[in-house]
Amino acid sequence: MKVLKFGGTSVGSVENMCNVKNIINDGRKKIVVLSAMSGTTNILVSIANNIAHDMTNEAIEKINKLHETYFNTIDKLLLDESLNIDVKNYVTGIFNFLVECTYQEYSLHLENKIVAQGELLSTYMFNSYLAQEDVTSTLLPALNFMRIDNHKEPDMFYIKQDFEAVFNEAPDVDIYITQGFICLDEEGNISNLQRGGSDYTATIIGAVIKAEEVEIWTDIDGMHNNDPRYVENTKPISNISFDEAAELAYFGAKILHPQTVTPVRADNIPVRLKNTMDPEAYGTLINDDHTENGVKAIAAKDNITAIKIKSGRMLLAHGFLRKVFEIFEVYETSIDMITTSEVAISLTIDDDRNLDKILTELEKFSVVEVDKNQTIVCLVGHSIVNHHETYRLFQILQDVKIRMISYGGSRNNISLLINANDKIKTLGKLNDYLFELVTL
Ligand code: ASP
Ligand code: MG
Repeated sequence: MKVLKFGGTSVGSVENMCNVKNIINDGRKKIVVLSAMSGTTNILVSIANNIAHDMTNEAIEKINKLHETYFNTIDKLLLDESLNIDVKNYVTGIFNFLVECTYQEYSLHLENKIVAQGELLSTYMFNSYLAQEDVTSTLLPALNFMRIDNHKEPDMFYIKQDFEAVFNEAPDVDIYITQGFICLDEEGNISNLQRGGSDYTATIIGAVIKAEEVEIWTDIDGMHNNDPRYVENTKPISNISFDEAAELAYFGAKILHPQTVTPVRADNIPVRLKNTMDPEAYGTLINDDHTENGVKAIAAKDNITAIKIKSGRMLLAHGFLRKVFEIFEVYETSIDMITTSEVAISLTIDDDRNLDKILTELEKFSVVEVDKNQTIVCLVGHSIVNHHETYRLFQILQDVKIRMISYGGSRNNISLLINANDKIKTLGKLNDYLFELVTL
């Protein structure tokens, strides 16, 4: 059995929902994971934000506007009167719940309940749309089986057990639909797998059922070899390994949630990225069957903060790095890049929520310099650290100021830290010289 995940754009309009229906209606048993309709989660997050800042009127205004948008979509999607009425009742129930939330005091639990509504809406609507089109399907409520532990990691033991229970109780149909992104936490509160988490839902389910394949359907024809938002002539990558895909997803290729391949790589369950708007396009196949050498892709991760820690007295004495890392651990901040010299170490973080507290601790035993607004540009490819192309990097980027470089952490990744203002120039140059066969 396959797991197919469709993103927000794929369920974001009547036309695209019709495409999804055609893609899934092939007479084979499958599990379909859906995101919220595009834009919905962002609006729900901003409603929660308004509640947090006592901006009740703004929140209610957004809720009413979104309610109206959903009613318009339902009127276009569901011409069958009884289904139309049923879905509107369901949707109204959710919007009444959101209005009730505006009277409550803000908490993260409240925010999580609010943002979970998007996937509940999209799956209910889509399931009813299939019913109208005489395609039999059933809903598997994700909140009955998807859960995370106290480290916010999927609790695979319970997920497997509860998924099987929910699945075995469900009617025997070809198409099972479930919500991406949402889950319960270890105490049974509604939570989620972080933004973009529907991809992760799909591969978690894929691992649980030992799926034949997990397909991630989006609005682009696969993972591209550079960021199409900033560089012209990018090309989809046809085959990529789990390691390479994980590095790219982590370092900024927006197409995948960073954890997506984690649950399935051990079993070599292929993950295929496909385009709902162009189902015939090959897309990208992620598995461990192909290992071409050389630079395969470039990605950029923004909003990076670089921290330089200088300490004449203790630097590189044993125990110094542990002391530094411990501070980041206490403040639950993970470090992306790190380089050392005899007199200083430099490292980067992308989550600067606890930066002030971290700096206060570091300053107790070192001199600290902070550079905000940095970008990590990451080159990924099997064994690129040994590949001749990579030796040209400094030459290609001779007029870009490289703040840090990380080489050899894995054989598949070289990361450069640059000023955010140089990002577009850097991505473009790397594209020209590494992929367009321009010579220096
Ligand atoms: N709806 C969620 C989000 O926008 C999850 C997802 O789309 O994957 O982040
Ligand atoms: Mg996504």
